[in-house]
Amino acid sequence: MLILHVRARRAVAALIAAATLAGCGASPSGSPKWTAAGGSQPASSSAFPVSPAGAAPSGSPSASASSSPSAKPTKTQTAAAPPAGTSYADRLPKFDRPPRADKVELPEGASVQYYARIPTEQPVAFITIDDGQIKRPEALELIKQAGVPVTLFLMIDAIKSDPPYFKRLQDAGAVIEAHTVTHQNLKGKSYTVQRREICDSADKLGQWYGRRPVLFRPPYGEKDDTTLKAAHDCGMHAAFFWKETVDKGIVRYQSGNTVQRGDIILMHFRDRFVDDFIAALQAIKAAGLTPALLEDYIP
Ligand SMILES: [Zn+2]
Repeated sequence: MLILHVRARRAVAALIAAATLAGCGASPSGSPKWTAAGGSQPASSSAFPVSPAGAAPSGSPSASASSSPSAKPTKTQTAAAPPAGTSYADRLPKFDRPPRADKVELPEGASVQYYARIPTEQPVAFITIDDGQIKRPEALELIKQAGVPVTLFLMIDAIKSDPPYFKRLQDAGAVIEAHTVTHQNLKGKSYTVQRREICDSADKLGQWYGRRPVLFRPPYGEKDDTTLKAAHDCGMHAAFFWKETVDKGIVRYQSGNTVQRGDIILMHFRDRFVDDFIAALQAIKAAGLTPALLEDYIP
């Protein structure tokens, strides 16, 4: 009886894990810095401490091997760049500039707040792009042409093969935030482990991109109280889940069938980046909203 019970629980856990993986496979999302206030993103300074070829000096090259499917060692996408002059203009919705952001009030405390939706009445939604394994040249071109804010939650083991790729996205306006070193599921892990994953990833991103992240997304959206405490102790201001996911050009809603004010949309750096990004923009447009920068709403 007990064995059956345990097996049933394991089966349920496996199903939940599979569903979650579908939601947060691989890449972090970034946000361009066209802030109404202009400049939540410090100019990134230094050259990368690694060669453009990408021999990353990171601490634990093999640490990710056992963690999760999306933590596999990554290689830089070698797909040819889009033909010069490729224009996405006819597929890109036009947006008004976002309103000047009303920042949320963060609760005092020793843990960060966890948001799936920013509590705002302003007609905005937030695009976040996670992980970073797949580094397609057209993603940069598309983000440039769209000219909308995006936030990238980048995982160190996914991006260390080619940090400069994301520097180019940052230069196009994306804001880079933390998503752990190895992408292991943090839920249930010790404070020491969780703190290391969060702090070390923020430190590394700060070194590479000239701005230490202040926002955090736990891999798979899986977290516990320790996660929110560790994130706070690592200098994060808030942590994020999502209300919509986008994959293969399809937007999936946690509830309802439209993007709502303040919704955080999750997508990844995947092979169909162009379709996913445009689907997210079209969903935001259809809801009468405009993309805004997550960082502008978090003090
Ligand atoms: Zn992820």
